[in-house]
Amino acid sequence: QINIHNLKKSYGEFQVLHGIDLEIAQGEVVCVIGPSGSGKSTLIRCINRLEAFDDESEIAVDGIAVVPGRALAAVRAEVGMVFQSFNLFPHMTVLRNVMLAPMRVRHSSVKDAEARARVLLDRVGISEQADKYPENLSGGQQQRVAIARALAMEPKVLLFDEPTSALDPEMVGEVLDVMKKLAGTGVTMVIVTHEMGFARQVADRVIFMDGGNVIEAGPPAEIFDNPKEERTRSFLHAVL
Ligand code: ATP
Ligand code: MG
Repeated sequence: QINIHNLKKSYGEFQVLHGIDLEIAQGEVVCVIGPSGSGKSTLIRCINRLEAFDDESEIAVDGIAVVPGRALAAVRAEVGMVFQSFNLFPHMTVLRNVMLAPMRVRHSSVKDAEARARVLLDRVGISEQADKYPENLSGGQQQRVAIARALAMEPKVLLFDEPTSALDPEMVGEVLDVMKKLAGTGVTMVIVTHEMGFARQVADRVIFMDGGNVIEAGPPAEIFDNPKEERTRSFLHAVL
């Protein structure tokens, strides 16, 4: 469903991604791990072209090429993204945050958008917070709103960039629990994370990146218990 071929990306002279090839199936849950600066964020930001990449590189989502221009809107309508820093609209209530994209992009009626938003807020366990503003929520609650907001567009793909890294430790679990529930619902998930326990438990496949390359990829049991590459071993040794 996501086809990445020879993905290269540079900032000026500095090459960040060195020709990544990756195929991700529909419904697959992929966790991307690796040291700081290895290109994890850049990789997932290329999938919906929040970052431009080299002309010779190819990415397609559901068969739609991720190229500049009109097709990009079609790709972005299918791909939801959740960031480390929540990025909710501060001047809108929780409910309005979740209603916004379907109304703007899909021209949903207020009634439909609200009904759907309430279902999603219930699904992420914060239906009582619907009328509050983001600043009055905990970090864990804000991140769950961000997930509900991403789901409101009924994406086929969800990209997560360290969704729990900005949270106080006691709130990490509630966000990971929501993500666990999403895994296996058919939505494709690509998750950059430092939560190795979560990756082991939830991922269909773990991808280890270093220096702008995919060094090793495989089922969690293989990557965590029996990594083939020395670089994977030393990284895991340092973080586990
Ligand atoms: P982290 O775990 O710290 O989030 P990462 O694996 O997500 O790291 P990226 O953010 O993808 O790494 O960055 C990869 C490399 O690209 C780093 O060396 C970074 O300094 C560089 N880089 C990222 N964004 C830019 C930018 N806008 N301009 C120049 N260099 C950048
Ligand atoms: Mg990053």
